[in-house]
Amino acid sequence: MTIPTADVEAYLAATAARRLERFLAFLRIPSISGIPEHAADCRRAAEQLARDLGAVGLENVEVSETGGHPLVYADWLHADGAPTVLLYGHYDVQPVDPLDEWEATPFEPIVRDGRVLARGASDDKSNISIALAAAEALLATRGALPVNLKLVFEGEEESSSVHLDAWLEANVARLAADVALVADAGFFEGNLPAITVGLRGICAAEIHVRGPFQDVHSGVHGGAIENPINALAAIIAALKGPDGRIRIPGFYDDVVALSEADRAAFSTLPFDEEEYRAELDVPALAGETGWTTLERRGARPTLDVNGIWGGFQGQGSKTIIPGRASAKVTCRLVAGQDPDRVFTLLRDHVLAITPPGVRVDVVSLGGGRPTLTPMDHPATRAYARALEATFGRAPLYVREGGSVPVAASLESIVGLPVTVMGFMPPNGNFHAPNEWMDLANLETGIRALVRFFDEFAADGA
Ligand SMILES: [Zn+2]
Repeated sequence: MTIPTADVEAYLAATAARRLERFLAFLRIPSISGIPEHAADCRRAAEQLARDLGAVGLENVEVSETGGHPLVYADWLHADGAPTVLLYGHYDVQPVDPLDEWEATPFEPIVRDGRVLARGASDDKSNISIALAAAEALLATRGALPVNLKLVFEGEEESSSVHLDAWLEANVARLAADVALVADAGFFEGNLPAITVGLRGICAAEIHVRGPFQDVHSGVHGGAIENPINALAAIIAALKGPDGRIRIPGFYDDVVALSEADRAAFSTLPFDEEEYRAELDVPALAGETGWTTLERRGARPTLDVNGIWGGFQGQGSKTIIPGRASAKVTCRLVAGQDPDRVFTLLRDHVLAITPPGVRVDVVSLGGGRPTLTPMDHPATRAYARALEATFGRAPLYVREGGSVPVAASLESIVGLPVTVMGFMPPNGNFHAPNEWMDLANLETGIRALVRFFDEFAADGA
C-alpha cells in the first residue's frame, strides 16, 4: 500500500479506532428504505451522517427533504482553480429477510476475522464511510481538500430512488461539477481492484392474478375454474425459454451488441467458474446460451422472479383454490434498453398470455437506465492511477451486473460524466443474509480516495 502522504497516513493510523466506532454506529441504524416502519430510522441515519459530515469540517451540510426519505448534502468548495467532484452514495439498506440465515443480528454489527458483519456494511455504508474518512483526513492534516467536493448521500437507492430525479432536477445548479463519482460499487472476484465501466439498468414489476372472489373450496369448485397460482406459474414459465432467452417480443431489440473488443475484455478477466459455482453452492451455473458467465452477468439482460405468494402458507394442507396470486419480477437491462419500454413490453406480453379464467394486473415498481462510463475521462484515469498506486496493480475494467439508476440520472439530468467507484468485497453478500465488509478494503479505500483527489487535482481540470 502506498502512503498518500506521511501526515495523512499518520492521522489515519492514529484515528483508526474512532473511525471504526463511527462506522459501527452508522451500521446500527436500521435504515431500510423499502419498509415504511423504518422511515424514522432512515431519517435518523441521515441526521447522524449530517452530524458526522459537519464534525469533520464539511460545509453547507443539509438534511434535504425529497418527499420521501431525506437526502444528505454537504460540500467543501475552497480549492480555487481545482476541479470539482460530486460524490454520490446511499445510506439506506436492503431488508434483512430471511433473518434466520444470519449469523449475527443484522443491525448489531460484529467485527470478526478482519470483517464487519452487518446489513449495509458493504452496500453502501462502507463507501460513504470511506468518503467521510478521506475528507476528514485531508481537512485535519492539510486544512484543505485538493479538489472541490460535493457530497450527495441518498436514502432511497434500495427502493428505486423514487424521489431522486426530482431532487436532482431542482438542484442542478448547485450540483455543477467536472465529474460524478458514483460510490456504490466494489472489487472484482479475488478482491482485485476494479473500475466498473458498465452498470445494468432495471425494470421492476408486480404481477397480480385474480381468480374467484375469495379463496374457495377446491373440492366443490376444483376442475371448474382456473387456479390463480397455477395461472401465475404458467405465465412465469412462459416468460423464458429453456435456452435462457427471454420470450417477450421485442425485448432484445434495443440491446447494443457487444463488440469483438468488448468480448475480448471480458475474456481477459481472471474468473474461476468452478470457484464461483462452489461459493454460491449451486449444482451448476445456468443462463442464456451463447454467452460466457461474465457476459451473461454484466452485458446481457435478465428476467428474474424475486418473490411469489398466494394461497395457504401454513402447516399441513388446506383444500382451497386461492382467490389471488402475485409475483415480483425484475429485469436487469443493458446499454440501449429503456426501462419504460421494457415494462410496456412485459405488461403487454403477460396480458397476452394470461389464461382466460383469471384477470391479471401488471404494475410498474419503477426502473433505471443502464450506463457505460467514459474510460478516457481524466477522472477515470486518475482513479485508475490512484488504485494502482494504492494496491500495487492496475485495476480491472468490469461491467457490473448490478443497477445504480443514479448513474444514468447524473448523466442525463445533471449532465455529468460518471465514474463508478467503490471498495465492497465482491462476495460481500450485499442484499443477502450475512452481508460483510472487508476492513482492509475499508482502510485501503480511504487511502485510494485521498490519492484520487490528489491525482485528479494534479491533472484533472
Ligand atoms: Zn448500493
